[in-house]
Amino acid sequence: MKAAILVKQKAPLEIGEIELPGFLEYGQVLVRVIFSSICGAQINEIDGTKGEDKFLPHLLGHEGSGVVEDTGSGVTRVKKGDRVIMHWRQGSGIQSPTPSYLWGGKKVNAGWVTTFNEYAVVSENRLTPVAEDTDLKTAVLYGCALTTGFGVVHHDSKLKSGESAVIFGAGGAGCGIIMMAKLVNANPIVAVDINKFKLGKASAYGATHTFINSSRIRQDLEKIIGRQGADVTIDTTGINSIRELAYESASSAGRTILVGVPKKGEKMAIDSFPLHFDKVLTGSFGGDVNPGLVIPKLMNLQKLGIYNPQGMITKTYPLAKVNEAISEVRNGDVIRVAIRL
Ligand SMILES: [Zn+2]
Repeated sequence: MKAAILVKQKAPLEIGEIELPGFLEYGQVLVRVIFSSICGAQINEIDGTKGEDKFLPHLLGHEGSGVVEDTGSGVTRVKKGDRVIMHWRQGSGIQSPTPSYLWGGKKVNAGWVTTFNEYAVVSENRLTPVAEDTDLKTAVLYGCALTTGFGVVHHDSKLKSGESAVIFGAGGAGCGIIMMAKLVNANPIVAVDINKFKLGKASAYGATHTFINSSRIRQDLEKIIGRQGADVTIDTTGINSIRELAYESASSAGRTILVGVPKKGEKMAIDSFPLHFDKVLTGSFGGDVNPGLVIPKLMNLQKLGIYNPQGMITKTYPLAKVNEAISEVRNGDVIRVAIRL
């Protein structure tokens, strides 16, 4: 089967013919991957944002959808033929050993879930079964963007009705957060980005105000959230100057949530004095969600028409063009792209 392999950091992925492990271990599930998405986390892995990668060569991808082909011993949550969401955060079920694959006789590492490969051996707790009529393309968003958005709103920031929120970065994570902020009737919901296309999407998903990030951004924000600052500010970019801006844009009793991951060794410069009183600054680890619990609830809301994430995937590529897809994520007018396996 074909897979995109990270062989070297800061280099294009290699498409290779790899061999599946000989048998499924306890808690492992074989999934035929149908769609994957590309998230900032994979870009960070390729770029080496977190430093040296000790697991090279390895497979990639952590939001996907597919069909169960086979199950190892102990697996009870999914069965052959089930449609599943593949997610990186732990859900319900067994945490299995991680698989390894063979590529030209050499070992290729993989985590509990990978999605840039036609077939994947996945840990039971990284899969959530969904209804048979689920549109598997939009469904990939439940693997990370939408569930993270839910968790950032409900767990990390505890954003409430009528509270103001400013979201920096209107990509997949940003738009996921905006949709979830709208669901709890936060107001205003302000989106900031450097890309007009993304801000247009942010409006469509619930942002009440959008701003291009420029040297005037502080004045622009002040017009909407006042001098006192916002109740909640969220950074999804991981860019240091924007993380600092997010912190400064929150009120003296506001909460700032850092979702984007900074480059290794980068340090923020902030006035920490307000943290001794009511201000809160915290980092998010995927919104602290259990996808097994959150995905069915959100899918139900989508089915009822209460919110609609369709249109977040703006382009689809075959696996052979994965590097083109990655450069589109870096530079293009896209929220999320999908890879068709
Ligand atoms: Zn992700």
